[in-house]
Order: sequence, then structure tokens, then C-alpha cells
Amino acid sequence: MTDGRASLKAVTERIARAATDAGRQAGDITLIAVSKTHGAAAIEPLLDAGQQHFGENRVQEAQGKWPALKDAWPDTVLHLIGGLQTNKVSDAVALFDVIHSVDRPKLARTLAREMDAQDRRLPCFIQVNTGEEDQKGGVLPSEAEDLIRLCREDLDLPVAGLMCIPPLEDEPAPHFAFLARLAAEAGLEGLSMGMTADFETAVRLGATHVRVGTALFGPRNTAPAAGVGAG
Ligand SMILES: *Cc1c(COP(=O)(O)O)cnc(C)c1O
Repeated sequence: MTDGRASLKAVTERIARAATDAGRQAGDITLIAVSKTHGAAAIEPLLDAGQQHFGENRVQEAQGKWPALKDAWPDTVLHLIGGLQTNKVSDAVALFDVIHSVDRPKLARTLAREMDAQDRRLPCFIQVNTGEEDQKGGVLPSEAEDLIRLCREDLDLPVAGLMCIPPLEDEPAPHFAFLARLAAEAGLEGLSMGMTADFETAVRLGATHVRVGTALFGPRNTAPAAGVGAG
């Protein structure tokens, strides 16, 4: 069993070192502990250690464990990092605090409507499919500018930045650099990028949010059928 506290300390130190190397402040980077497939027993030690930000990729799974944990640790910020179907938007807006996977106009419109209905304005990241992979979520780079404009100007969504998951077989750095350039061109500050294998690279290239699971919790409990790449 992974010692959550020790892993949290180690990952936090690695982020701080990468930030320092890049001339950045460690405090400008938010560590999102990705707890998908892990139960409350694995999550609670991190909450006890002061970890505030957590990520889940499935609405239904999160509904099973997070309402009770959020009651007990009310400062928790819960990030939805996986693909979102429009029929789950209402549940997602009710439970999550940040959405990282806005990737198409229909989803953006549904989110805007639901945030109005629930009077909850959730910061959103627009996911970009930087590798242009068929199976992966995310807007194509050529369509990103239009989607960003729709979200910000027409729908008045609180767009925090951009998110990407590079193709497994690629060097991640060019994808991170590309995402950073897109964000800068759009005047967006937030960059959700970097996972266990590459979060230090992401920090060097400007990540404001890294999403780390395995390095904190150890191997996942079930085969990640909807895991990395499910978008
Ligand atoms: C599972 C997941 C992560 C965490 O992956 P690790 O390699 O375990 O750190 C990050 N981002 C997304 C979108 C994921 O689905």
C-alpha cells in the first residue's frame, strides 16, 4: 500500500524543484491529486495532510465517494478531468468545482445553461486534442480559437485556461509548448497539463495545474477502461 503522505511530500518537492529550475514560484502551480479508482481509505490521508485539489474522470464514480468527503473536508476543490457527456452535465455542475474537459460547442452551451440554472459558476478549461488523435477528447487545434471565443464571449463561461493530454507515444514537451502558445495567444493564464510521467516537464513549460495520480496513490485499482485518453 502506498504511503499517501510520503508520496504527497515527494511529488510536492519535485514540483517545487521543477518550478525553481524554470524560474517560477512553486505556489503558482496547483497539484491536482487524481483519485480515480481509489476509495476513501486512500484519499483521506491526503486530505488529512492538507491536500485540497482532487481530480476524478467519471461523474458517477465521483458521486459515490465525494459528497461525504466534501462534507468532512469542506475546503476541497474537486476537478472533473475526464470527458463529459451532456446528459451528465447537471450532476457534474452540482458536484464538481472545476471542469477541465470542455471540448465542443454543444457541451459548452449545456454547461452554461446548467451553471445559470444552479447559480454555480465553475471555472472551465478547454481541452485541446493537440495530437489530433481520433479516440481522444478535446477540440482540434484548428477549431480551438472558435470554441474559446464561443465560451468566453457568447456563453460567458469562466474560462480559466487550456488542457491537454499528449499522445502516449509522443514526447510531451512539444505538446505542452504548443498548448502554452495557444493559451498565450488567447490571453488565457491557466494550463492544465502534466501527469505522473511528465509533470516536471509540464511545470518547466508553464503548467499552472498538474494532474497526478499514480505517483501519489500507486497503481490504479481497476483497468482504466475510461482512464488516460478517454478524454
Ligand atoms: C488518470 C488521469 C491523470 C493521472 O494520470 P497518472 O499518470 O496516474 O498521473 C491525469 N489526467 C487525466 C485526464 C487522467 O484521466
